[in-house]
Amino acid sequence: MRRLFWIISLAFFAASGAARADERVNVVASFSILADIVRNVGGDRVNVVALVGPDSDAHVYAPTPADARKVADAKLLVVNGLGFEGWLPRLLQASGSKAPVVVATKGITPRKLGGAADPHAWQSVVNAKLYVGNIRDSLIVVAPADADAFRANAGAYLAKLDALDREVREAVATIPDARRKVISTHGAFGYFADAYGIQFVAPLGVSTEAEVSARDIAQIITQVKAAKIPAVFLENINDPRLIQRIAAETGARVGGTLYSDSLTGEKGDAPTYIDMVRHNIKALTGALAN
Ligand code: ZN
Repeated sequence: MRRLFWIISLAFFAASGAARADERVNVVASFSILADIVRNVGGDRVNVVALVGPDSDAHVYAPTPADARKVADAKLLVVNGLGFEGWLPRLLQASGSKAPVVVATKGITPRKLGGAADPHAWQSVVNAKLYVGNIRDSLIVVAPADADAFRANAGAYLAKLDALDREVREAVATIPDARRKVISTHGAFGYFADAYGIQFVAPLGVSTEAEVSARDIAQIITQVKAAKIPAVFLENINDPRLIQRIAAETGARVGGTLYSDSLTGEKGDAPTYIDMVRHNIKALTGALAN
């Protein structure tokens, strides 16, 4: 019994020693895109975990007991806000966390989406720069000793985002005005559309949630012809014959994947926020070029 006590005590001291040696700040971000931004600002001074990881949908997420433990261990919680994380209040309560919560969209002018605030503000790179500022400021509050590192990291990342914003504008400028429109079932590109002037037209009478049916296709074909839309991004059509039919009957190009709410894994097309924006603009310019 006594021996067991000593083993437990040693294990305890070993664990607390490890915690002291590792002075990184534990940060929990609600989803993969935010986690990437936090990683860029926090650098090697932070441990970042995303609750909703790559290739997962934060809109319909159901937090697990493991998430509550991650939140309980966090010194800072970073969320998007604008109604994106409807599951967050219950998770916060379950975790018992007293950590500060930074709303990364603070200061952003929200646009409307179906009567409510549109949460997808990160799709404008200019907005993403505001995310960086908010995250930097709150990291400085929770870990003031690392303030210089956070400021330097944020400065370097903001410069990359400035270059990315220019890159997107230059790419859009190569598309003739009349061709800057796509049909897309994504409701997530409103901020992108406002910032960069590519119109995202929703397919008439087709739910953005459900799979597009054969019956919907005739309507989409009529719409694409009437509005002379050069490209369609309809990732929720799982039947390639339907996609081929749209392309054959309208002459529109059928674009590839646009990433909106989540990054991909390391080996995917969009492992970071910057990769995601680059991938999307490449897919759009590829589909819309003359
Ligand atoms: Zn979304």
